Amino acid sequence: MDDRVLALCELSNDMLFHKIPQNQLAQYVDASLAAGRNAAQLLAGRDIVDLYREAGIAIVEKPSGKGRFGVILRGQATLSTEGCQVEVYQESIQALAGYSGGAGEAPLSFEKAFHIHLAHEYFHVLEYRRGKSVAEELPDVVSLSFLKFHRRAKINRCSEVAAHAFAQTLLALPHLPNLYDYRYLLDTGAMTQEAFDELLKKMETALNGA
Ligand SMILES: [Zn+2]
Repeated sequence: MDDRVLALCELSNDMLFHKIPQNQLAQYVDASLAAGRNAAQLLAGRDIVDLYREAGIAIVEKPSGKGRFGVILRGQATLSTEGCQVEVYQESIQALAGYSGGAGEAPLSFEKAFHIHLAHEYFHVLEYRRGKSVAEELPDVVSLSFLKFHRRAKINRCSEVAAHAFAQTLLALPHLPNLYDYRYLLDTGAMTQEAFDELLKKMETALNGA
């Protein structure tokens, strides 16, 4: 599975995705992937739980969390100057791990899925602590134009792509981990294989046709 295509799938969930000029899609994808990978390379070989301990980020494990609109909520990060904490919902991690296999690959262990979640959120803590998100580093899009007035906005999903790439690199995963979210949707019947194939094809064309 092509990481860049999966990255574009993630970006396509952004409310302002359609505002990105077609010929800049690759730039948003590649810069976001590179930001996550570069940050992970600085921490190569490090254990994610150790990184939490050293950074003073609390891990709060809870049995379950409530996701709205059928969204799989694995947990959430609370970021503040007083301290950062990351909540993890065991039930969701378990479900995600259980449905993460596919294409001849065994599903992830609970621990691996847990570490993916931790690594993903760790990246957001890094963004928070340096005071600038990956989305803020990429060019704005024009979200609204009226006469000479242009409202500009960020593509926030760039930070999600970077966080996925960070987790992938730190944990040496074969795929950008949002693939496991799609496998969950496919396995639970929330998304059909045809719809997923169509999405992949559409993103591949958008990326290469630019
Ligand atoms: Zn995220």
